[in-house]
Amino acid sequence: MRDPDAVVVRRAWVHCPRCTDHTSCQSCEAGHCCERHWRFLLESEGRYLFLQCPRCRYRWWHDTRFGVGGRLVGMADLPGFPPDEAQVA
Ligand SMILES: [Zn+2]
Ligand SMILES: [Zn+2]
Repeated sequence: MRDPDAVVVRRAWVHCPRCTDHTSCQSCEAGHCCERHWRFLLESEGRYLFLQCPRCRYRWWHDTRFGVGGRLVGMADLPGFPPDEAQVA
């Protein structure tokens, strides 16, 4: 049996560009799947993931830089797309 909510609320280990709560966390530094610092994976489109930080509620598109496709459909309709993605290194 599968919880229907699990389809929508998946987890992804991507650093939040707003609260950067992963800093000074040994588990995150080591690249592990940290139990505390994960994000909701709300949607995925090609190589992009639409994430929400459970801590600060920030939502953004994350470019995974791998995968096929890469064409985003309806991306402009979603809030939280960072205009200054270049700053997130
Ligand atoms: Zn955050
Ligand atoms: Zn962590």
